[in-house]
Amino acid sequence: PTAALERAEKLAAMGKLAAGLIHEIRNPLTSVRGFIQLLAEKKPPGDREREYLDVVLSEIDRANEIIRNFLYLSRAGKFRPVATDLGRVVRDILMIVENQAALKGIRLVSECAPDVPAVQADPEQIKQVLLNLIQNAFQAMPCGGQLTVRLYPDAAGKNVVLEVEDTGVGIPPEHFSHLGEAFFTTKEDGTGLGLAISYRIIEDHQGKISVQSEEGKGTRFTITLPVNPGQ
Ligand code: ADP
Repeated sequence: PTAALERAEKLAAMGKLAAGLIHEIRNPLTSVRGFIQLLAEKKPPGDREREYLDVVLSEIDRANEIIRNFLYLSRAGKFRPVATDLGRVVRDILMIVENQAALKGIRLVSECAPDVPAVQADPEQIKQVLLNLIQNAFQAMPCGGQLTVRLYPDAAGKNVVLEVEDTGVGIPPEHFSHLGEAFFTTKEDGTGLGLAISYRIIEDHQGKISVQSEEGKGTRFTITLPVNPGQ
């Protein structure tokens, strides 16, 4: 709880400093993007300069994505919880990543208990968490493997447990304490925001997220969500 509090305080301080600045950066980025788009459209596809401009466009999009994620992180977690069928959320997400998994030689396994109670949650935010965890899992399995998603109620029936497990490269112990820290990444093109946002969303839901991992074997993220947060 103290680590979570520290993280929340750090994020709040960071957010105050950065949110205003970020809004100011966004406007020029948007106009630059518009003009580059105009230039790109004048070049025929396959033209060398068109390729350069497309790279510029996708880099601007990447910058915007980082800004969007950062703004999300710096905002207080306001959401409207509704009775959410997490089984349905899992099915939706697995459908979205099915093709990508097949292309990467990754087997998708879903083990959903039949008796999972609805939880008070924001389904879009839970989807975002699942997508972040699954993207990380895919990136941890460059030569294929297995992704398992499990969903079951805990023994007392007060919580629902959601697990995302991969057979990937694993996480070295010295990185454990940095997981969920904004901008912590070991990837060349990583932003280090995926887990920070996911941890934040689960905290906002008054849930818990934990990780077990073994190098060379794989990683499991376990999320526990209260059926009725605040009770
Ligand atoms: P990013 O994916 O942009 O690096 P994240 O916040 O999603 O940012 O992840 C932070 C870091 O945590 C990753 O760079 C990676 O080192 C580690 N990580 C997260 N999930 C996994 C996983 N399933 N397997 C191995 N490493 C992981």
